Amino acid sequence: KGPDPDLVAITERMATVKHKILVLSGKGGVGKSTFSAQLSFALAAMDFQVGLLDIDICGPSVPKMLGLEGQDVHQSNLGWSPVYVESNLGVMSIGFMLPNPEEAVIWRGPRKNGLIKQFLKDVYWGELDFLIVDAPPGTSDEHISIVQLLEATGIDGAIIVTTPQEVSLIDVRKEVSFCKKVGVQVLGVVENMSGLCQPVMDFKFTKMTETGEQRDVTEWVKEYVREKAPEIQDLFACTEVFDSSGGGAERMSREMGVPFLGKVPLDPQLCKAAEEGRSCFIDKKCGASAPALKMIIEKL
Ligand code: ADP
Repeated sequence: KGPDPDLVAITERMATVKHKILVLSGKGGVGKSTFSAQLSFALAAMDFQVGLLDIDICGPSVPKMLGLEGQDVHQSNLGWSPVYVESNLGVMSIGFMLPNPEEAVIWRGPRKNGLIKQFLKDVYWGELDFLIVDAPPGTSDEHISIVQLLEATGIDGAIIVTTPQEVSLIDVRKEVSFCKKVGVQVLGVVENMSGLCQPVMDFKFTKMTETGEQRDVTEWVKEYVREKAPEIQDLFACTEVFDSSGGGAERMSREMGVPFLGKVPLDPQLCKAAEEGRSCFIDKKCGASAPALKMIIEKL
């Protein structure tokens, strides 16, 4: 029996891709797609040739996060063409193929695996420095499938995104053990939604008087800061939202012997950037999350 023709085709396609990185999470809604999108934007802004492949077949949010909703994939004699945000940032997602993005995709494992195989085999990426794969949450058929299909060409590693709560961290442990079992290196863990950070000067300040009156002293505080301690104007005020008394993802990473990449705070501007499909790094679109994301990406 000769070699599997699908695997041969995938290996040929992937020969022009230098690095392949999986983005994983134990649970949905922790910010995996947001991170994948911002990572892709950031790498493209560094002049790398980047492809973002969304294999979250049941909940493809990548087209929206890259500002590509309603776009179509085109066929050429080289294969399916990704949809381009910039000439060096191409995106492929099942979201481009659904007639109605609001409609649920209810597919069983084999059909999902078939599509992943087709994505790897038939998408014409051309020369890429990075292929970022946004995987579905958990460790299911799709994960095993992508690892097996890329085995011959190798995966550089996986980034695991989590929130600080214990319920989310339990699932991260599963992701780490999955990676160890299938021989994929964990590049690191990102703790997302780690506290809420707002610029100090955006706050309203209130003085509670003894009579129970609440007096707005915002202008007084701002004036005071501007005159007496101008360096405070550039600070962010942060508060914990989720319980991370157990040490959060940093401690868990240490215990599991995998790198901890950093914490990204909850940032209303990052949420807005994701909604509008924009990069956080261009035109200072994000607040406290931007330096955090930048530091994490530089570590990779
Ligand atoms: P997942 O891919 O893990 O399901 P998403 O990336 O779709 O999660 O994120 C879920 C929601 O949370 C999105 O609306 C996204 O914009 C928002 N979000 C993610 N990370 C942050 C953050 N650090 N600050 C604010 N909003 C965030």
